[in-house]
Amino acid sequence: MKQALFYEELEKSEVQCHLCPWNCRISEGDRGVCGVRENREGTLYSLSYDNLTSGTPDPIEKKPLFNFAPGTKAYSISTPGCNWKCKFCQNWQLSQGPLNGQSIAPQDIVKAAIESGSQGISYTYTEPTIFYELAYDTAKLAHEEGLYNTFVTNGYINRDPIKKIAPYLDAVTVDFKGSGDEDFLEEFAGVPSVDPVFEAIKEYKAQGLHVEITDLIVPEVGGSEGSTKELIDWIVDNPGKETPVHFLRFYPAHKVRDLPPTDVSKLEKAKRMAETAGLEYVYLGNVRRKNQLNCPECETTIVSRSFAGSGRLNLDGNRCPNCGKEINISGLEWVKDK
Ligand code: SF4
Repeated sequence: MKQALFYEELEKSEVQCHLCPWNCRISEGDRGVCGVRENREGTLYSLSYDNLTSGTPDPIEKKPLFNFAPGTKAYSISTPGCNWKCKFCQNWQLSQGPLNGQSIAPQDIVKAAIESGSQGISYTYTEPTIFYELAYDTAKLAHEEGLYNTFVTNGYINRDPIKKIAPYLDAVTVDFKGSGDEDFLEEFAGVPSVDPVFEAIKEYKAQGLHVEITDLIVPEVGGSEGSTKELIDWIVDNPGKETPVHFLRFYPAHKVRDLPPTDVSKLEKAKRMAETAGLEYVYLGNVRRKNQLNCPECETTIVSRSFAGSGRLNLDGNRCPNCGKEINISGLEWVKDK
């Protein structure tokens, strides 16, 4: 347990948390929407600080990050809790589970990451925003040890927390669900508005971080052609056409088991729409694809991928060795044998 960041004390021992757009007012003895920030006698505490539920090295491609440090391993950590309540959550045992994790100090997390042969740490599986204090302390130490840090997030976070942690982050994957359709998100995730996610992406980008975006297309209910097109157009106009985008296949999970997996042809159609709109790096996820990183100009393969990971890089500095186009790829300092 650690005293929380980003809250204010109100009258009668009430507090207001300003970590995420819920901005919960929390009475003494109560917790916020995320279930892991508790008001004890007028002080807000993060209960997730000493509740680590996973620590394992993953290929960075699994986050997914396809244009960042390809072929490296990210030591992946999580704690219980989430500020969204997705009925289709793939990690619901973790995100909605009890606070039964281990107490592991940030320096020991960093040590475990190094010993596992990882080049960085990912804050993932559940929502890193709600274990912000643990992520912040760990990320600072990880940078001192030369590791990278990446968030895999729903993007539901306020601006000031982004600004505070940005110097210690290197890349962010922001996960949309159902192409950000607000009716879908309200019904299936309990989220009142998706606007804060758009604002968070702009802020992460303004802070100079590498940003990739995923969109979980849920058949019948989340990810109509219209909403997918709207999301694509927003990405082109805001973080820009060089932003890598991944369309993800839905599989039945948690409380949504009566829908089939997404038809792959629907994902392929979304990919074509995105490429037609000008997006330069479009991938499919949760399907058996190699997802090479090709030059958007001449289609020369820049990063060849097997199903298990990445092969060698084919780059001239950060340009295509064939046509000279600048490639949006970062984190190369952590890639060996480039
Ligand atoms: S982090 Fe948790 S307590 Fe804070 S505003 Fe968000 S949901 Fe509420």
